[in-house]
Amino acid sequence: MENNSPLLAIVVPCYNEEEVLPETIKQLSCCLNDLVNDQLIHMDSKILFVDDGSRDHTWSIIARESIRNPLVTGIKLTRNVGHQNALLAGYLVAKEKCDCAISIDCDLQDDISVIRNFIEKYHQGYEIVYGVRDSRETDTWFKRTTALSFYRLMKKMGIHLVHNHADFRLLGKRALEELAKYEENNLFLRGIIPLLGFKATEVYYDRKERFAGKTKYPLKKMLSFAINGITSFSMIPIRIITFLGFVLFFISIFAGSYALIQKVLGFTSAGWTSLMISIWFIGGLQLVAIGIIGEYIGKIFMEVKKRPKFAIDIDLYTKPMLGEQSI
Ligand code: UDP
Ligand code: MG
Repeated sequence: MENNSPLLAIVVPCYNEEEVLPETIKQLSCCLNDLVNDQLIHMDSKILFVDDGSRDHTWSIIARESIRNPLVTGIKLTRNVGHQNALLAGYLVAKEKCDCAISIDCDLQDDISVIRNFIEKYHQGYEIVYGVRDSRETDTWFKRTTALSFYRLMKKMGIHLVHNHADFRLLGKRALEELAKYEENNLFLRGIIPLLGFKATEVYYDRKERFAGKTKYPLKKMLSFAINGITSFSMIPIRIITFLGFVLFFISIFAGSYALIQKVLGFTSAGWTSLMISIWFIGGLQLVAIGIIGEYIGKIFMEVKKRPKFAIDIDLYTKPMLGEQSI
């Protein structure tokens, strides 16, 4: 039975996570061991940490642990490339050996015990399993409200996202292979994975507080993540501009005719207020329009360069012989 069980890789992106890492290793090892003992996964399954260019001791903790704990392995990226790219790096390396991969954040916010449910769903034939948060009570009011508005906005724009699903999910090998074909640079995994179209299901869990350390997603990063999500998947913002342009054009025809008639009839007025208002209004609108168009042009600029999304410095997963010299 055991040799027929799927080889699992738990992909964990880490950026400056030395505070929480030892506990994460402990809990994930425990979980993996149980699954191996219950013959739900292959005994060579691994926890694959992705060090996303951390500046603390994250990598040395991973490398040391990989020597004494057979369940732990890792890759080290040459520099910080951001959560989504680090995750992709993990998936692509995992795909070389594993039958399925589960991605989870390092900070223990996602419930490790539902990994078992993921695997059960995989055994039932699902290629993709989404971890969906039952409650967001541990998130701040601000994060909850902004996240909710984000999901609503995306839905209005016709972008299919799994509601309240972060990057806690299982992907089978076929899904990983299809994912590897998406070459776009501005990666928004939550939008791309539903596009793969495989048989998918959801598993619910409670999201907890961060176990230790600080969030690596400050407001600025959250905003750029949201803008990226929208502009990578939707042309609607540009269409809104075009639509607004038409509306303003018609309004100005009417307003212009009205002003002309007034002039012909001899009712001249100072007109200063209306002039100023229209200058400001049109000026503002144009700037917004240029900004949005610029956002898309910037995206084209980034995409045509076809730069690699990450570079791997050390890979203990596919080249485990590196061992001690990697610390
Ligand atoms: N992370 C990463 N690279 C980054 C930022 C974050 O690999 O540049 C990792 C981080 O270590 C964590 C996960 O991405 O495992 C999610 O980050 P965090 O928990 O800080 O985000 P939040 O849960 O606050 O949205
Ligand atoms: Mg977190």
